[in-house]
Amino acid sequence: MCIFFRLKMSLMQKATTSLAPRFLKAATGCSQQQIRNLNLLEYQAKGLLQNYGVTVQKFKVATNTSEAEKIASDFPCSEYVIKAQVLAGGRGKGHFDNGFKGGVHLTKDPSKISNLCTSMIGHKLITKQTPPEGIPVSKVMVAEAIDITRETYFCILMDREYMGPVIVASPDGGVDIEEVAEKTPERIMKLPVDIKTGVTDKMAVEVAEFLGFKGPLVGQCAEQIKNLYKAFLEVDCVQLEVNPLAETPQGMVYTADAKLGFDDNASFRQKAIFDMEDTTESDPREVEAGKYNLNYVQMDGNIGCLVNGAGLAMATMDIIQLYGGEPANFLDVGGNVQEDQVKEAFRIITEDDKVKAVLVNVFGGIVNCATIANGIVNACKSIDLKVPLVVRLEGTNVDNAKKIVAESGLKIISANDLDDAARKAVSMLN
Ligand code: GDP
Ligand code: MG
Repeated sequence: MCIFFRLKMSLMQKATTSLAPRFLKAATGCSQQQIRNLNLLEYQAKGLLQNYGVTVQKFKVATNTSEAEKIASDFPCSEYVIKAQVLAGGRGKGHFDNGFKGGVHLTKDPSKISNLCTSMIGHKLITKQTPPEGIPVSKVMVAEAIDITRETYFCILMDREYMGPVIVASPDGGVDIEEVAEKTPERIMKLPVDIKTGVTDKMAVEVAEFLGFKGPLVGQCAEQIKNLYKAFLEVDCVQLEVNPLAETPQGMVYTADAKLGFDDNASFRQKAIFDMEDTTESDPREVEAGKYNLNYVQMDGNIGCLVNGAGLAMATMDIIQLYGGEPANFLDVGGNVQEDQVKEAFRIITEDDKVKAVLVNVFGGIVNCATIANGIVNACKSIDLKVPLVVRLEGTNVDNAKKIVAESGLKIISANDLDDAARKAVSMLN
């Protein structure tokens, strides 16, 4: 498989697991959303949405049996819904690696809550949206169950084609929404929102009526839609998906399941939200790299790659493959990198046992090659590098950088260009 594609796939896996972008594409022919990273677990999303007047069930979260045992007494209600918290949909129809069926369970018997939680916590949940081996569950939401007479689908996406938010809605929500998108696309409404005027009363009512709400429920649903939109805008979402947006026989409209995806560019003004990121599902090296503002993607080969810019990374990896090697990872230090970040980048790459050679390929445009050279030299001195290191630097301040490397007294193999670098790195493996 071409490296470009594999890299893309890795980046895609890191991105949202929500149905929304694929659903929008299937339903409307619109383009996929650009890849963005932070997604919140359902309980976190609901916690946020509550602050905007979105109606959600009462809930608590358990991470172990003793917490699960206490929930029923903390939280009396006539029926409970127990839900595995993972960053993937399709939980209701999923199954666990221990054979337990369903990531969403209803029970009227409080004494069963703890057993249901224990069947999920510490096990992997496999759904249509998870990798085949599943995702480990470390948290379970126990919520007040609602009676549901109808399940509708509601979503807001930041869409490139429309250059703004688009509402996607269907009266046929619930677990089979993918099928609706495929078989009855006319049952899906797509309504672009002018970001300057927002969702007007008229639009909110139009969507509520399309969703099939009647009588006083139209007004209530329209209010919920406006609240959801307000939340979407204020917390810098790129997607907000509610499935189901449920109707109850008591005449209420509930956000019964919610997924939120965020614009990483907004992390500086949404610090509290970005601090909520649950990294238990992520590759620890990617998490570690993220702490230093570095972009790391794990791959299967044995040449560790430190590069600047995703384009150069892909070119580097393609050329490594051309010479018969396989990249072990991709670590993009970006354009604004400082010496200590280079050092951390180096440490992260070399901590992977699979890495048998390291290739540094940096084109100094904004980045100063001397910064990279100093970072590399400091890193090599502090980590006692055991594998061969090939360095190709080009661009801003490159002569000075080459001097720093040459005078370091370290065994660093210099390369003149990309070809030379890849060939040398691959030859070091033998
Ligand atoms: P998903 O399968 O990951 O999308 O998880 P959901 O939270 O959407 O739950 C799956 C399905 O379980 C929903 O579509 C509902 O049919 C059902 N469900 C979830 N919560 C409740 C609840 O409080 N009451 C009832 N009666 N059904 C629920
Ligand atoms: Mg759902």
